[in-house]
Amino acid sequence: MNTRGILIVVSGFSGAGKGTLMKALLSKYEERYALSVSATTRKPRLGEVDGREYFFISTAEFEKKIAKDELIEYAKYVDHYYGTPRDYVERQLDAGKDVILEIEIQGALKVKEKFPDALLLFVTPPSAAELKKRLIGRGTETMDVIGARLQRAAEEAEGMNRYDYLVVNDDLDVCVEQMHAIICGEHRRCYRCETFISEIKNELEDLKG
Ligand code: ADP
Ligand code: 5GP
Repeated sequence: MNTRGILIVVSGFSGAGKGTLMKALLSKYEERYALSVSATTRKPRLGEVDGREYFFISTAEFEKKIAKDELIEYAKYVDHYYGTPRDYVERQLDAGKDVILEIEIQGALKVKEKFPDALLLFVTPPSAAELKKRLIGRGTETMDVIGARLQRAAEEAEGMNRYDYLVVNDDLDVCVEQMHAIICGEHRRCYRCETFISEIKNELEDLKG
């Protein structure tokens, strides 16, 4: 119904299951969504591939991108830069895809400022205990880094009410469907359906004769 896609921001505590959820959503509805690949200065985790999970670049390269305005937004998260390349996002939105940015809260709020129509979703596990369990269970960070990420989660919780919807990732499949339903609902907001509304208005005028 609307031609340009919606810019969707997905944030959530580290370990909430955002990556897992995005993979499941995209594999189920691959024709609907495009996932933006961010640039970062952190090192790849085991199994992460350059250009797939992230573009892994040096701090100097990152700062060059900032200077050339090639990033929609960027932020520092626990000692590393993370940012969203502009090019891909614009191209996919123009092609009618809903583009998902999986980014942290500072970046999310910057996106909302620049793109007021962006949809902001916050993913959380059902409890803090479950969050800690998932972070430890993932086995990719040391206990020190896990501690820093849990501390950061407490700060991020302060900003949760700036988001449009809360998405509770308890059962993964249920969560995928809930997220998809929220996005489908968003497409039906009247202000996003101006083309349809003006067409049906014209048709009704024609019917009146
Ligand atoms: P994030 O991207 O938010 O940091 P991940 O997707 O890496 O989180 O998930 C963190 C850990 O939690 C992973 O080990 C993942 O397999 C697990 N996980 C994700 N979603 C669920 C879920 N619904 N139930 C149980 N475990 C989950
Ligand atoms: P991780 O190191 O676990 O992959 O990511 C750490 C945090 O950085 C997560 O909260 C993730 O959502 C966020 N992040 C990833 N890419 C970007 C980005 O391009 N911009 C911003 N602001 N945050 C990002």
